[in-house]
Amino acid sequence: MIIQLKNGATKDQYNKITKELINKGYEIKDVSSDQVIVFGVIGDTAALDERDMYAYEGVFKVTRIQTPFKKASRSFKKDDTVIDLGDNVKIGGGHFQMMAGPCSVETEPLLIETAKAVKEGGGTILRGGAFKPRTSPYSFQGHGLEGLKMLRRVANQFDLKVVSEIMASDDLPHFESYVDIIQVGARNMQNFQLLKALGQSRKPILLKRGLSATIEEWLMSAEYIMAGGNESVILCERGIRTFEKYTRNTLDISSVLAVRELSHLPVIIDPSHAAGKYSMIEDLSLASVAVGADGLIVEIHPQPEIAYSDGAQSLKLDKYLSMMDKIHQLKALMERIRK
Ligand code: PEP
Ligand code: MN
Repeated sequence: MIIQLKNGATKDQYNKITKELINKGYEIKDVSSDQVIVFGVIGDTAALDERDMYAYEGVFKVTRIQTPFKKASRSFKKDDTVIDLGDNVKIGGGHFQMMAGPCSVETEPLLIETAKAVKEGGGTILRGGAFKPRTSPYSFQGHGLEGLKMLRRVANQFDLKVVSEIMASDDLPHFESYVDIIQVGARNMQNFQLLKALGQSRKPILLKRGLSATIEEWLMSAEYIMAGGNESVILCERGIRTFEKYTRNTLDISSVLAVRELSHLPVIIDPSHAAGKYSMIEDLSLASVAVGADGLIVEIHPQPEIAYSDGAQSLKLDKYLSMMDKIHQLKALMERIRK
């Protein structure tokens, strides 16, 4: 961290801030000239918040050099993290996985029909919400534990893995029993109590980007989970809120590239919650493959018109299958031209 003091800052102001930093265990490297008073703060600055430095009188500018996240950062770990779900299903470091399924777990026959298509298209992970974070308390809230059990039963029939969203840490034992990946939804990305609880789990966590979260805030949330000891975090870009209203959210496709530079963690894309429109899902999915995402999570449904939630952004099963055919072709092409 580099701290520049204001023109005319006093010796006392300089001494106060540097002494306190030294007391905290940092080394101060003064690189002042005749024109500017500036010094570097050397050490593990992850515990320092640059905004707090402005509380000291005489501080003009604080510049962070190291990222505020450690375990999630590329400088901490050079090689891509590969998350192994067993049965040769791996995510990250060149391993791409397709997650698909309904927004909400509804009836068993519909889920069976959906899971069959997921498998047929080459998907490996069945998604479905059992505990639903709905904007309205009057909307369908999910089947809860029964929904998780149904997901597991149906996924097992087709040798699929399961991903589902957790909303409260009290439910963690159920998730430990029935799912392979625990999803943290956009609305809970900064539920720090939940993130800490998931840090104690050994299940991989799918961490969605918050509705209006910066990339740094998103990685800081991953750091919460990792700091607790759970280093299996998959990041998921699902669109962020902008001034644009035509789509449900704005898919920040460049965040995949930013995460690659900043972190070793796998990153996937959810085009469904980004676009909010089924007609855009195929092209956004192909764009996600082209940009190098480690996977996709897509909402699909046998009859989107009667879906309990998010029907407008759900692909019909035949559309999913034809999209998957294109995804497989594009993946092969990208592997060839990237070599
Ligand atoms: C979901 O996956 O169904 C969901 C609610 O997603 P998000 O948290 O991205 O809105
Ligand atoms: Mn949904």
